[in-house]
Amino acid sequence: MEFEKSKKAFDEAKKYIPGGVNSPVRAFGSVDIAPIFIEKAKGSKIYDIDGNEYIDYICSWGPLILGHSNEKLVNGIEDEFKKGTSYGLPTQIETKMAKKIVDAYPSVEKVRMVNSGTEATMSALRLARAYTKKKKIIKFEGCYHGHSDGLLVKSGSGTLTYGIPTSPGVNSTVIEDTIVCEYNNIDSVKKAFQDSDDIAAVIVEPVAGNMGVVEAKKEFLEELRKVTKEYNSLLIFDEVITGFRLSYSGAQGIYDINPDLTCFGKIIGGGLPVGAYGGKAEIMDMIAPLGGVYQAGTLSGNPLAMYMGYNTLEILENNKDIYDDLQEKAKKLEKGLNEHIEKLNIDVTINRVKAMICIFMSQGPVDSYSQVMKSDTDKYAIFFKEMLKQGILLPPAQFEGLFLSTAHTDCDIEKTIDAAGEAFKVAF
Ligand code: PLP
Repeated sequence: MEFEKSKKAFDEAKKYIPGGVNSPVRAFGSVDIAPIFIEKAKGSKIYDIDGNEYIDYICSWGPLILGHSNEKLVNGIEDEFKKGTSYGLPTQIETKMAKKIVDAYPSVEKVRMVNSGTEATMSALRLARAYTKKKKIIKFEGCYHGHSDGLLVKSGSGTLTYGIPTSPGVNSTVIEDTIVCEYNNIDSVKKAFQDSDDIAAVIVEPVAGNMGVVEAKKEFLEELRKVTKEYNSLLIFDEVITGFRLSYSGAQGIYDINPDLTCFGKIIGGGLPVGAYGGKAEIMDMIAPLGGVYQAGTLSGNPLAMYMGYNTLEILENNKDIYDDLQEKAKKLEKGLNEHIEKLNIDVTINRVKAMICIFMSQGPVDSYSQVMKSDTDKYAIFFKEMLKQGILLPPAQFEGLFLSTAHTDCDIEKTIDAAGEAFKVAF
């Protein structure tokens, strides 16, 4: 496999873009090679500018549950594009989109569209503070909620990969208001509430997808619901990854827990930039123009993003067996990988929740942040590179999950399992 064109493109990009990329994990830093530059993608396949083809398990980090360039979506958007790209005035598709989310999530009575998951979580927290008239928030070690100041504390995803969980430039005064607790450890949360009566909200990924994949214990989420109610604090589910992915009604549908606010992103934009936050009307109506909590956006509710998102949700809603199919594919992948792991007798753990799946280079169970951190990132890097050579594109970082789409075929999964057998042998 040749990577010459990608290498040259990266050198050129580095002259003008910090680190050559517009988001850190794209730089392949933790696997220590130049990133591949992409030419095009279709279905489960992605093609770099050197002409290499890969089975793609990054899938744009989650939005593409229907695979790349899904025909039903891309054919229609041409006409939308010709009508106009942005108006800065309301359109009816924004209401249709809001209704779709409200209908799917019983905890959401009203929803506001924004442009990214970061904006969604940042805005939800501002709202929670205004509603409760309290200052502090609780987040969990290894959970990533985007890159706003107050949430960049012991964070996950790229911050874990690059060893900068708390970023320089974030004022200590901001961090003082962020309490970090341990994922799946309710005692750490109860203690925080006992120590402070000023906690506005607890924000949590109901299945962690940014320290690899770590399942939240049901009792942990149930206790979070109880304790936040008891202390008049809000429970915020960050469903930017899990929303419309774990099930049509997200993690909350599966765990049967109603948070006060929910953050969305990724799938609801169908591959265009989007985010949203929603919840009880009583809370949401505090946002301007009805209330005084300010939040706005030049491109919020952009008609093209709404078109892609709405039609993605329409397909998911009308084909609910998609979720079983995705899970079956993930199970098949899990089983195949586990067979290699057993045969080779190596310390590798596969975590899977529904169709969310992740490969940890360590002995299990991996059910907490401290277990996650025991994973051997050097071995993951070797494994990643071996898989890449065989045409399998995994996330270029240990602390990310694999994303499956409806476009991934059984044959893709089998090829991936075969390649993994070889790659494990090289890594161990
Ligand atoms: N919340 C979660 C759970 C995420 O996984 C992400 C991004 O990966 C975000 C928030 C931030 O979303 P965005 O990258 O769209 O700002």
